[in-house]
Amino acid sequence: MPPATRPVIDIRALVKRYGHGDTEVHALRGVSLTVERGEYVAVMGASGSGKSTLMHILGLLDAPTSGTYRLDGTDVNGLDEGALGLVRNRRIGFVFQSFNLIPRTTAYANVELPLTYAGVKAPERRRRTAAALAQVGLSDRADHLPNQLSGGQQQRVAVARALVTSPALLLADEPTGNLDSRSTSDVLDLFDRLSDLGRTIVLITHEDDVAARASRVIRLRDGEILSDTKTGPEVTRGAA
Ligand code: ADP
Ligand code: MG
Repeated sequence: MPPATRPVIDIRALVKRYGHGDTEVHALRGVSLTVERGEYVAVMGASGSGKSTLMHILGLLDAPTSGTYRLDGTDVNGLDEGALGLVRNRRIGFVFQSFNLIPRTTAYANVELPLTYAGVKAPERRRRTAAALAQVGLSDRADHLPNQLSGGQQQRVAVARALVTSPALLLADEPTGNLDSRSTSDVLDLFDRLSDLGRTIVLITHEDDVAARASRVIRLRDGEILSDTKTGPEVTRGAA
């Protein structure tokens, strides 16, 4: 399929079990799902419903017990660690609840790092790092260290770092979970803008007002999809 029409995510019958025997946990019990380019999806569900497990598999941080996963057209099931690392670096941008910035390292250097890993040459690195910081509205904070930035600003640096490689998929696990309401609103506005620009976003949250910004809401319960609802941006944007 040509790149513009194939799904970014295509998972079939995904099962994940942890442990064995008496302690065995069925974290995912056969999840099938496609996410098209440009969709903004919120994954919701109670604690223990399998959200993080799904995110780790989607992010190639963990392998399913069974089932298939095509990411942006690539069948990732057969790939070894080295190949998985490459796909992860090039096609996925991660945003975590705890920001995960490198301490004592400037915002600029944090954002530039994935490009260095990807072997991008210095002039192109500078151009793309500056553009990513501008996109999140932090050009004037490039020289700041993480501990000199507010939580909201740190998370925007993390979003810039996630975007700098132009990944096919932006994966965010509770990205506003550590933020106050003002910073939450800044970060969600940023996701709205990225979505408007055509980014594909999968965001995990347990907060309804965060999920309400997405154009599609998937609810998990006990490792299964309970519901999958497309809301459409015209319904959600500015509705509150
Ligand atoms: P959520 O993110 O929705 O809270 P998780 O995906 O973290 O849910 O967990 C789903 C289920 O799998 C839970 O019962 C959890 O205790 C279990 N689980 C998650 N990770 C592990 C692990 N590494 N080892 C054993 N059980 C796990
Ligand atoms: Mg979780």
